[in-house]
Amino acid sequence: MATYDYDIGIIGGGAAGLTVASGAAQLGARTLLIEKEKELGGDCLHFGCVPSKTLIRTAQVYHTMKNAQAFGLPAIEMPPVDFVKVKERIQSVIATIQEHDSEERFCSLGARVELGEPAFVDEHSIHLNGQRISSKNWVIASGSSPQIPPIEGLHKTHHITNKDIFSLDHLPASMIILGAGPIAAEMAQAFCRLGTKVHVVQRSGQILSKEDRDMADAVTQVLAAEGVIFHLNVAVLEVRDAGDGKEVRIQNKDEEVSTLKAEQILVAMGRSPNLEGLHLEEIGIEFDGKGIKVDKRMRTTQKHIYAAGDITGAYQFTHAAGYEGGIVVSNAIFHLPRKADYTFLPWCTYTDPELAGIGMNEKAAKDAGIEYTVFTETFKDNDRSLAEENKTGKIKMLLDKNEKPIGVQILGPQAGELLGEWIAVLNGKVKLSTLAAAVHPYPTLGEINKRVAGAYLSPKIFSDTVKKGLKFFFHLKGRACGSGEGR
Ligand SMILES: Cc1cc2nc3c(=O)[nH]c(=O)nc-3n(C[C@H](O)[C@H](O)[C@H](O)COP(=O)(O)OP(=O)(O)OC[C@H]3O[C@@H](n4cnc5c(N)ncnc54)[C@H](O)[C@@H]3O)c2cc1C
Repeated sequence: MATYDYDIGIIGGGAAGLTVASGAAQLGARTLLIEKEKELGGDCLHFGCVPSKTLIRTAQVYHTMKNAQAFGLPAIEMPPVDFVKVKERIQSVIATIQEHDSEERFCSLGARVELGEPAFVDEHSIHLNGQRISSKNWVIASGSSPQIPPIEGLHKTHHITNKDIFSLDHLPASMIILGAGPIAAEMAQAFCRLGTKVHVVQRSGQILSKEDRDMADAVTQVLAAEGVIFHLNVAVLEVRDAGDGKEVRIQNKDEEVSTLKAEQILVAMGRSPNLEGLHLEEIGIEFDGKGIKVDKRMRTTQKHIYAAGDITGAYQFTHAAGYEGGIVVSNAIFHLPRKADYTFLPWCTYTDPELAGIGMNEKAAKDAGIEYTVFTETFKDNDRSLAEENKTGKIKMLLDKNEKPIGVQILGPQAGELLGEWIAVLNGKVKLSTLAAAVHPYPTLGEINKRVAGAYLSPKIFSDTVKKGLKFFFHLKGRACGSGEGR
């Protein structure tokens, strides 16, 4: 039997790689974790989820202070934002979380951490820092990077991405964001709230293109009302440095050309897999521009080499990367043939209001040819939401033709948190009657979950048949007011 230096080698110390490393090492596998940067944690910790959510919170506080009058408080003249202080707060949150993702912690769990950029030399071995290292199994978890599309002039014009935006040395006076996905929408609102004049440029007529139109358009309206300027249905013709700012030439559907000018250009137009230097083509691993091809057990076209996280190009979320990392541990270490199932993978865009979802939205159901019915409740009918000055948003629950829930989307305050109940309901196959009957504390935002389940059940409970039955058995006398009865 062939002998190897390690049982499992992992390339990439982000959400996916760290999950595999911690699971495998704690189960007694001889584990090697390789990271090319100086610190573990990956994009989520250093340039993604953590800094973005920290910035969003700062912007939210500033926005609330500026809008103090809406809460019956005196108006305040707010001084401008010092982005260096904001940056310091972001760095301090990263540093606190970094301790959990430190080399020492992984060493204490039993995993060896090596820094560097490996290249495969055969199906079981890599070359790293002048050494040849072999492993029985490998996991490629090298993540993704911002995609820079081939727009005329973009490559030679200074622009920023998520790698730079959290460490700027001052707040830009103006910014053009190319793209309108979750990262673009979150950053547009946060920077606008902090005082930057923000333009969002998007090829299609909708932001957050995977979401249902009504939900995405509601986000657009909120952001536009706060001052974000949207340019939808436009093509970017050219980008150039005009000396005193950067210019983006755009063309609308009527072929009218106009030029936007700003201090910074943020490129948020999708992600590219980090494949460079790994030499995957030489060991027969299939990949394309989106990422590495995997089966449901996260195995690449070389069955002992797995891939997990953004590198597969599928569901580019930290929780998806962690989930896939767990699937790898089951298959590679436990030898349990566990398959990834994304039916109820939740997601959330952290604009204010947040837009969260699980399962199918209307767009996905239509694409899949599934018949569905939609039940909705609005936040303007939720007492807690009104008390907190949130009047925007709604919940949408989709049922299939057998009246089984197939998806839920929530646009509203703390939508990501509110989705938690649906994660349990959908994964646990909990009946809607159980959710509708369960007592929820008053007044909470969570009551909206109970109410939408109730909206489905109400017509059944209060039907004419039920009323007739009760009248027949218990001699109920009917309406006491309205419809001409009882008066
Ligand atoms: C601005 C922004 C906000 C986001 N917000 C959210 C959010 O709120 N919620 C959410 O779920 N997701 C969010 N995401 C997505 C999330 O960050 C990613 O889905 C997640 O980081 C993917 O984890 P990963 O392990 O696949 O990759 P990564 O976290 O990127 O880790 C990959 C690691 O591999 C290393 N690496 C790369 N190439 C090599 C190599 N050749 N050799 C060795 N090491 C290598 C990298 O340095 C990195 O440390 C956000 C992303 C961005 C950009």
